Amino acid sequence: KVDKALYYAKTNGKNQVSFYGEMHERALTIEESLPKAIRNEELYLVFQPLLHLENNVVYGIEALLRWKHPVLGEVSPLEFIPVAERNHWIYDITLWVIQEATKQLYKWDQLGLRNAKLFINFSPYLLRQTDLVEAVPAILTKNQVSSQRLVLEITETGVIENLSTGLNILQKFQEVGIQIAMDDFGTGFSSLSYIRHLPISILKIDRSFIKEIDQQPKDSMIVESIVELAKSLGLQVVAEGIETEKQECILTEFGDVVGQGYHFSRPLTSEHIEEWLKHKI
Ligand code: C2E
Ligand code: MG
Ligand code: MG
Ligand code: MG
Repeated sequence: KVDKALYYAKTNGKNQVSFYGEMHERALTIEESLPKAIRNEELYLVFQPLLHLENNVVYGIEALLRWKHPVLGEVSPLEFIPVAERNHWIYDITLWVIQEATKQLYKWDQLGLRNAKLFINFSPYLLRQTDLVEAVPAILTKNQVSSQRLVLEITETGVIENLSTGLNILQKFQEVGIQIAMDDFGTGFSSLSYIRHLPISILKIDRSFIKEIDQQPKDSMIVESIVELAKSLGLQVVAEGIETEKQECILTEFGDVVGQGYHFSRPLTSEHIEEWLKHKI
């Protein structure tokens, strides 16, 4: 009996060690490979459209980063963006994303995309990098993209944590025509009254509010009142994570809402978004 218990303890112990060992090894591999990922051409972008719910016209396209590691395979941005932020690699990565995405936008315009906006996720860590106020517009000029076409997505907590320089940087962006969107709205601690002090023109309601909008009357009421308030502040509302027809219908009722989600399109590779746009436009 004792032998058996000892045996289990040992094997369990061994599994534990190898589990944590593997996790640790994965973290090390990520830390080691990420700074080389751009150079090794392991990063790429996928693109997800945003549509006016009333008429299905394309309002914009969000660029989402992907990393295909040679050994680990696909690593989620939820896993590697925090690592990039901690190590300040997020700066180069973001400039790379803007560079690549604006090149694509130029191509889509040739297909007749017109005035649709390009949405880029902008890490809160970058709200301390004042030189981006010049670096970002420089990329737009180089790739012949008007600054009115670019939207930088920030999160609520991100701005609050970097309030003074952050606000300054956002105002500078706004002055040159770059728009700011509040991403994942509702998941942080800020409120609409707070948002009115920020140079924001688009509000993206987090998908956790959209998820059960067709089952939970309270969620539907919350979203409706966010939409109303946002509108009265002159903000464009985007509903994230629309997955069903029913959710789409409810949100369309609210009027002048833009939608994004698997129901319309999953994030697509540059090749596939071109095909999608050809059918759409
Ligand atoms: P996010 O900016 O809020 O992006 C939306 C996420 O929801 C994306 O996940 C997208 O694929 C997913 N999504 C879209 N529609 C639906 C839907 O209908 N249902 C569900 N369940 N999910 C949907 P993804 O691509 O894994 O990105 C996760 C997060 O990683 C992003 O959240 C963003 O915060 C961050 N991220 C992605 N790319 C970048 C980047 O280039 N820079 C920075 N700083 N962060 C990025
Ligand atoms: Mg986003
Ligand atoms: Mg979001
Ligand atoms: Mg999110």
